[in-house]
Amino acid sequence: MALVLDGNRVARTLRGRHRDELADIQKRLGHPVTLAVVRAGDDRASASYIRQIEKLCGRVGMEFQEHILSATDREQFIGKICRLNADPRITGIMLSWPLPEDWDQEFIALTLDPRKDIDGLHPLNAGRVFLGGASLDMEAFVPNTPAGVVYLLRHYEIPLRGQHAVLIGRSNVVGRPLAALLIAHDATVTITHSRTADLAGHTRQADILLVAMGKANFVTPDMVKPGAVVVDIGINVTADGLVGDVQYDAVSEVASAITPVPGGVGPVTNAMLVANTIRAARLQSTLA
Ligand code: NAP
Repeated sequence: MALVLDGNRVARTLRGRHRDELADIQKRLGHPVTLAVVRAGDDRASASYIRQIEKLCGRVGMEFQEHILSATDREQFIGKICRLNADPRITGIMLSWPLPEDWDQEFIALTLDPRKDIDGLHPLNAGRVFLGGASLDMEAFVPNTPAGVVYLLRHYEIPLRGQHAVLIGRSNVVGRPLAALLIAHDATVTITHSRTADLAGHTRQADILLVAMGKANFVTPDMVKPGAVVVDIGINVTADGLVGDVQYDAVSEVASAITPVPGGVGPVTNAMLVANTIRAARLQSTLA
């Protein structure tokens, strides 16, 4: 049976550390560190995710604000971002996805102050990740999910250097920045996607297989090299509850280590959001 990469456990440890860091920073700053989440419309799935974030903020002692705006008024949405950018009481800004499909998402990312862009969406932050200076220690914001995946792997001392990492998924928020981070950690990276020929031929070569496709139970044991490390980033709501992109029980018989869903990548991703907001507080002040 595979080693379970327990994200809940890692996140618990991080919560304690973040609580202490926040108490110290807020004392030195003389005002609260505040995360503002901006939403367009009231999508149910994102609402439940935002409740998790609000709860986490409460647990670590960080202020939380939620701004729910109309999904049909792009100018109002951008106006809100600009006001939050200019508000010295706001430390970090997170946009809740999905944004309405007809809104130019790249333009909206550009309206974020890069120093408050704790999800690494602004091209300045995304660019620094791709320019290869990116490690988890750099002074820009790595998107939370890729940061969480690499944190989890490093926590469990899974070697990255020289390993063949195969990703399924090339989205701007997960697959692409994750590939850049893995390269920065000296892995050899293959990115696959929906147009990849012979997908299983690629995945079977992976020492580390990372799956972010949003297709419930897609990855079967025959797609996995015996002894590989399998990271399931997918989150799918099904009649059986929340499941990942990987057939967890069957693949556990083949893999040497695996992340469960829920309780794998997700909690560490959320912890990275807090870590990035703490980093934003430091960047915006003179605190080292
Ligand atoms: P996305 O933007 O929809 O991207 C999905 C990717 O999977 C695309 O690159 C797509 O290829 C590829 N893909 C889809 N079907 C495929 C197939 N049959 N064969 C090979 N590749 C295929 O999704 P995302 O935002 O990256 O999210 C992916 C999953 O991660 C979702 O389940 C999401 O809920 C989850 N997620 C989890 C966290 C977390 O913290 N755990 C955070 C963010 C997202 P094309 O590019 O060719 O279309």
